[in-house]
Amino acid sequence: MDKHFKIIIVGGGSAGISTASRLLKGMKALAKEVAIVDPAKNHYYQPLWTLVGGGAAKKEASERTMEEVIPEGAVWLQSAVASFDPESNYIKLTNGESISYDYLIVAAGIEVNWDGVKGLKAAIGKDGVCSNYSYDYTDYTWEVIRKFKGGNAVFTHPATPVKCGGAPQKIMYLAEDYFNQSGVRNQTNVFFGSANPAIFDVQKYRDTLEKVIVRKKIDARFRENLIEIRADKKEAVFENLDTQEQTVVPYDMIHVTPPMRAPMFIQNSPLADEGGWVDVQPYTLQHNTYENIFGIGDCANLPTSKTGAAIRKQAPVVAENVLALLKGEPMKAQYDGYSSCPLVTGYNRLVLAEFNYKKEPTESFPLNQALERRSMYMMKKDLLPVMYWDGMLKGIM
Ligand SMILES: Cc1cc2nc3c(=O)[nH]c(=O)nc-3n(C[C@H](O)[C@H](O)[C@H](O)COP(=O)(O)OP(=O)(O)OC[C@H]3O[C@@H](n4cnc5c(N)ncnc54)[C@H](O)[C@@H]3O)c2cc1C
Repeated sequence: MDKHFKIIIVGGGSAGISTASRLLKGMKALAKEVAIVDPAKNHYYQPLWTLVGGGAAKKEASERTMEEVIPEGAVWLQSAVASFDPESNYIKLTNGESISYDYLIVAAGIEVNWDGVKGLKAAIGKDGVCSNYSYDYTDYTWEVIRKFKGGNAVFTHPATPVKCGGAPQKIMYLAEDYFNQSGVRNQTNVFFGSANPAIFDVQKYRDTLEKVIVRKKIDARFRENLIEIRADKKEAVFENLDTQEQTVVPYDMIHVTPPMRAPMFIQNSPLADEGGWVDVQPYTLQHNTYENIFGIGDCANLPTSKTGAAIRKQAPVVAENVLALLKGEPMKAQYDGYSSCPLVTGYNRLVLAEFNYKKEPTESFPLNQALERRSMYMMKKDLLPVMYWDGMLKGIM
């Protein structure tokens, strides 16, 4: 064994960093005993990418170096995890090292599968094919929207779990709003091809969004899954998930939300459930088989929407429960499935969806959050990034 840590956290994203901060705040003796394993040089506040694609923020504001966000007292191992051996309590890194642990927290996010749509990988980033689902392409989304001269503007939502279930439609609402400002809306068809059965799965917010779709005259089709981009002909091919019928939709611009999946090194490990996600208990976030392993964030099989907002409520639960086990106490903290989606419906308009495992609204403010509000848009744009960098990542909120 090359090294040993009391706690190893796999992934230094939203979940890994906020959990590490809370652990180190909760028990001073853990200094230098918490390792964060992540090969990435940079850390991203991905929720900003919607606004970057809509021209309302700069992508550089979503990026910090990993060194800047790793909390004091944590040790950063800059390598990727290759495999897990949960029976013997160690992980193998791609740099060849084996590291053992007392407790393991898996927070490796979700993998964007650019190969999951035929022709997408070759087409992305040029000739009107854009996506907010990568730092590299977010500003190209804005270039496409800004320069759009009319025609078919196509937006997609895949048939897999995605990070932030609302993001595929938020950029469409911003684009539609911008097309009005730039004077091309009258010569534009806005088409939404979504593999989902409806626009949103919490009824209260769905009612509002259905009205938004009608008001904006968006041609929204459900159970339609993008399977191919024919970049040479500027055609998108959708397959109906019920009838398997294929429809070819010509595009002048297309914003693609690619299919996503659990990271392969998790899928191929004993930690995975049958879908490939880290198999955890939904309330304690403890692994269903290995008591000294926890899963958090986008890589966990929690039956709720995969968002940073959800992680804000998951991180205190994981940290508290791991600290309890370290002290030989029973685990008391419970996660209720809280997730939130700030549904941007235009510049200066936002519906703040908040809900739990039962898909019941669990709203934070004493007002009807299903209404589109300017105050909520300002909160997303100006307040939430500060809360993220200075609060959530530091284990304060
Ligand atoms: C366009 C877009 C809009 C969004 N909008 C919102 C929003 O409005 N509100 C909201 O709450 N959320 C939103 N999200 C979702 C939010 O960003 C994610 O849910 C959140 O970042 C997930 O955190 P995580 O820690 O699970 O994964 P990530 O933050 O993605 O971090 C995963 C980390 O694991 C590391 N890793 C991967 N493989 C390995 C390995 N083999 N070994 C070690 N480390 C590894 C990666 O390098 C990465 O640093 C949005 C996301 C996108 C893309």
